[in-house]
Amino acid sequence: MQDNFRHQGLRRKLINELRKKGINDEKILDAFYQIPRHFFLDLAFLEKAYTNIAFQIGAGQTISHPYTVAFQTQLLNLEKGEKVLEIGTGSGFQTCILCQLGIRVFTIERQKELFIKSKEIIKKFGFHPRQFYGDGYKGLETYQPFDKILITCGVREIPQTLVNQLKVGGIMVIPVGEGESQLMKRITKKIDNNIEIEDFGSFRFVPMLEKTVR
Ligand code: SAH
Repeated sequence: MQDNFRHQGLRRKLINELRKKGINDEKILDAFYQIPRHFFLDLAFLEKAYTNIAFQIGAGQTISHPYTVAFQTQLLNLEKGEKVLEIGTGSGFQTCILCQLGIRVFTIERQKELFIKSKEIIKKFGFHPRQFYGDGYKGLETYQPFDKILITCGVREIPQTLVNQLKVGGIMVIPVGEGESQLMKRITKKIDNNIEIEDFGSFRFVPMLEKTVR
């Protein structure tokens, strides 16, 4: 797929919009420039890849709005080299943004089709995140603890298994709520293993579902 001046111009415009909406971390904004979002969408959507909307990516799933991706990334307060668990690889766009930021990414997807498709795209960027086909509710026992955990689908309640896999002082960004919309929450794990919860407004996500799909 091509990345021409027009795409680059559209990305600059999108980045200005993200800035106006409160994304002020220049490293994140630069990652949005470096990773062409249209590579993750079907050709039919090429023209609209840089508008702030969600898209079908197959298997009934959507790639998140650019603003949502940027907002969740910013809430994580990332430092280069950190070990991050992402639940919901989906298109792989968010995964690539994290890789571009120098993060050691572990990502899980429950839909086989998306697991395979995203693997191919991510490889084209030359990134090497650890990708897993599995149920994100279980996390990755073998690779825990994580500095940060990012959930890119909506959960009914905060999964304790995932809190357990977070380092003390670690952060989890998670959209919580049933139905149409979810409340974005940032959870910080305290020394006594209690958690502090902050709320960041309402967003729309596809639901986090148990078990894998072939
Ligand atoms: N980060 C993605 C967002 C995709 S939407 C992107 O940038 O495109 C959320 C994804 O979470 C979907 O692909 C869905 O299949 C996946 N998902 C839902 N429940 C899951 C679970 N229990 N474990 C892993 N992935 C899950």
